[in-house]
Formats: sequence, C-alpha cells, structure tokens
Amino acid sequence: MTELKSYAADPAASLGRLHDEPAPSTRNHFQRDRDRIIHSSAFRRLEYKTQVFVNHEGDLFRTRLTHSLEVAQIGRAIARNLGLHEDLIEAIALAHDLGHTPFGHAGQDALNDCMREHGGFEHNLQSLRVVDHLEQRYAEFDGLNLTFEVREGILKHCSLSNAKMLGNVGERFIQKTQPSLEAQVANLADEIAYNNHDVDDGLRSGLITLDQLAEVRVFAEHLAVVREKYPTLAGRRLIHETVRRMIHTLVVDLCEQTNLNIAQHQPDTIDDIRHLPPLIAFSASMQAQQLELKRFLRTNLYQHYRVNRMTSKAKRIIRELFGAFINDAGLLPPEYQPITRPDKARAIADYIAGMTDRYAIREYQRVFSII
Ligand code: MG
Repeated sequence: MTELKSYAADPAASLGRLHDEPAPSTRNHFQRDRDRIIHSSAFRRLEYKTQVFVNHEGDLFRTRLTHSLEVAQIGRAIARNLGLHEDLIEAIALAHDLGHTPFGHAGQDALNDCMREHGGFEHNLQSLRVVDHLEQRYAEFDGLNLTFEVREGILKHCSLSNAKMLGNVGERFIQKTQPSLEAQVANLADEIAYNNHDVDDGLRSGLITLDQLAEVRVFAEHLAVVREKYPTLAGRRLIHETVRRMIHTLVVDLCEQTNLNIAQHQPDTIDDIRHLPPLIAFSASMQAQQLELKRFLRTNLYQHYRVNRMTSKAKRIIRELFGAFINDAGLLPPEYQPITRPDKARAIADYIAGMTDRYAIREYQRVFSII
C-alpha cells in the first residue's frame, strides 16, 4: 500500500455539495457518499438489471450490481497501489451504473431513440440525475447530495449541450480538462471488469468457446501459461485461473504505465491533474490487446444471435411502453403523471430507466396483455 499522494483527491478539500450540509463526524465525505449510494433504491435495483444476460437467464451471470462491486474491488486495488483515495473510487464505482435502463445497452439505445425529440437519453447523465434529483430519501433535499468529486466521476461522458446545463460538474467538457485520477481509475476499472467478466459469462453461457478465445492474444497467452503449469486443470477452474491472471496483468500494467506518466508530468496537486492529459492509462501494447478482446466480444458475444434475440425483445418492450405512456399519460403511476411532472417525456424516461428487467417485462404485460 502506497501512502496517499499530494495529487490524490482530499475529502477535507472537497469542492462541495449542491446543498450545504454539516461535515460528517464519524467518516469522511467520500465515505458518507459511498454509504448514501449503498442505501439508495437505485443501488438495490442494480441486482435485477442486465449486464449482458437478462437477469432470469441464470443465477451465476453478472448483474449490474455484481459488476459494480467488481469495478469497486478493482478500483480500490489500483487506488492502494497508486496512493489515490480509495473511498472516492469506491463511491464512483458503486454509483457509475445507477442510471442504466433495464436490458443493458439495448434498453439505453431504445430509450434514446424514443427520447430523440425530447433531449435524448444517456445513461451517464441519468446516473447523475439519479443521485442529484431522483432519489427521494432525505428531508432537506432531492437526490443524495453527493460531493462534486463523486458527481464528476459518475459523469464519464457528456455532450457539450448537456454540459452547459450542468453547472460546475459539466465544466470540464467545455474547458477540455480532466477529472481526478480517482475518476480516471474508476473508468478504466469498469473496462477491466467488464472485459473479463464478459469472457467468463460468455464461456459459462456456451455462446463463446475456449477454442474461439484462443484467437485473442491476451487470453491465449495466459491460457497457455496456466495449461503449462497445471496440465490436468480443466473446466471452470481453467477458465477462472486464466481470467484472474488477465485481471492481475491489466492492473499491474495500468499501475506501471500510470507511474511512468506521473514521473513524466510531475503533478503536485489535484489541480495539476485536472490540467494535464489523462495520466491513468494502459501501456500501448496492452491497450491494443484490450481492443482486440473488445472486438472479439462484440462480434462473438454481444452480437451472437441468441443475444440479438433478447436485444430485439428488449427494444420492443421499451419502445412500446414509451409509446403507450406518451399517448396516454393516464397509464402512468401518479408520481410520474404530468400534473406532478410537467416534462412528460422526461418523466416517462425516468420511469422506464428506473425499471429492472423483470419489472419492465411485467409492466409490459400489465399494459398490453388482456388476460
Ligand atoms: Mg459499468
């Protein structure tokens, strides 16, 4: 464990919350934020939201909840190695997917299509909306009233037009500056987590095979090492032993390359970090290998015909629910009705985005089924 660096985020020097609150007495600001995220309704819903496989397809596949926990675990390991603030990374990781629709990217694409005339739908922005506005838990404010540092980490991407409406958290997209290193770590920990767990889930589902994965350099190299060391190892243990080595190699590579970048740019404060190029990075060769793995997963897993069938059903559910609600707002639950929420399309998007996979399927039946 490396001691906290001068350029790490400091909860005592936080840029603050949207609503002033007394400082926490038993924990630091970032720990308070993490605790608020864990207690939120949106966090509990992650258990029933898809990563790649729809929730009811099997009990062992990743969900958005277990994905977020893996991102937090990988992020914290990197934080400890680089002397960054572990609590901040953990909070960002646990919150980064709160705005995801049901049915993963298929749901997001469909909802974005439905919202084309109404400002669009973007899951990153929606995660921020959840923590800034939609959670209703505290007497004195809407949302969770998180620190700037957690909010900037949640907002990974943002269009220029949206950035202009977001106040200080949108500024870096206009000024073209960087977020904290903790936010940068959370972003790459997300990538490490999903590339590796999608390999594992893909193999578990039988949609991809070990033979196919042998085309992918980073996997093939680790598989060969494991096979040589443990010639009789087979099945799940062979896969897990290979995947865990891939994760380890990625974490080590990222820490080494980042240390080189830091040595080159010599940042002293978090303000320096904001004005330097992104410093958290993989080496060029690891970056290329990651890209190769991503391409493999896109072609062989995310676009597998069985996944496509689910994607197509998911899009239909989202599209038809949105269509029914926009045509007749009387079908919406009271808290989403135009009387309480004047921006009807946005209220519908919030309602649909908040659904879990199974809630969306049931809602579809409740709205459309006559028996
Ligand atoms: Mg993610």
